[in-house]
Amino acid sequence: MKAVVIHEHGGPEVLRYEDVPDPTPGPGEVLVRVRACALNHLDLWTRGGLPGRKIAFPHILGNDIAGEIAALGSPLEGIAPGQRVMLSPGTSCGRCPMCLSGEDNSCRQYRIFGALRPGGYAEYVCAPAPNVLPLPDHVGFPEAAAFPLVFLTAWRMLVTRARVRPREDVLVWAAGSGVGMAAVQVAKAFGARVIATAGTDAKLEQARRLGADEVVNHRTADVVAEVRRLTDKKGVEIIIEHVGEATWERSILALAHRGRLVTCGATTGPRGVTELRHLFSKQLTLMGSYMGSKAELLEAVPLFFAGKLRAVVYATLPLAEARRAHEMMEASEHFGKIVLEV
Ligand SMILES: [Zn+2]
Repeated sequence: MKAVVIHEHGGPEVLRYEDVPDPTPGPGEVLVRVRACALNHLDLWTRGGLPGRKIAFPHILGNDIAGEIAALGSPLEGIAPGQRVMLSPGTSCGRCPMCLSGEDNSCRQYRIFGALRPGGYAEYVCAPAPNVLPLPDHVGFPEAAAFPLVFLTAWRMLVTRARVRPREDVLVWAAGSGVGMAAVQVAKAFGARVIATAGTDAKLEQARRLGADEVVNHRTADVVAEVRRLTDKKGVEIIIEHVGEATWERSILALAHRGRLVTCGATTGPRGVTELRHLFSKQLTLMGSYMGSKAELLEAVPLFFAGKLRAVVYATLPLAEARRAHEMMEASEHFGKIVLEV
């Protein structure tokens, strides 16, 4: 099959479109003919190399996969060749206390497609049966591929971790990013008031179209001052962080008393400055969040299929142009997801 493979860590130039052997599904697995695979920041980190995380080369990236069932490794109830599906992005052992209590994303054997197991930058990928989610006919493959990872992440951050409630003020940094566009919509679905930031007027306009109540340009405006103005000096109850070094200090300052900050990433750098007096005197809560469980994805999916959560596809490119897609993502000019079609 054709696949985009990396043989070493590095820049977008290490992505190579080439022939590799077809994968074979084992018992309890399916073989998926990939039709679309969305990019995530995790792809850039895996490509560039993460400290302490060794991957086996050659490696195929791609966390978010939609396609058709091509073959089964063993008979599986309710799954048949030809079925249109998307894949839950994380696999786990299915037997440990974490998996059995529904916290499969905390399983010690948790593996994300394209990170620690082969991903979707390929014509075919193998997946365990529990990762298969049938798609209704009206949902296209690019939209289906654009949904799972970022909405799963945003859902866990807002619903499970921060326990968002109606009328709370939620600040979403970088609403044009995948997690940002998902978080705006999930917060609105739960009745919150959303203040979204972005770096261009066009992105601010798109954030409004997704439901953001207020928008702030984080390149030209003082975000903390704007948050204070928009909340009568109160600050926001919840902050959705994934930017890291560039925004962390301002996030702490923008929180209301008893505010909750949830972070799922640090795209601009891993070190954030926290003035501890704010942490204790305002009784803040700082929370980490990482992916989400299969059950959380199943909670979010009906809203997606009903059109209440929209996976915004910024661009689709053929698989062979994965390098250009990575360059596009690094340039940060997109709003929503960049998707490879296979
Ligand atoms: Zn497990």
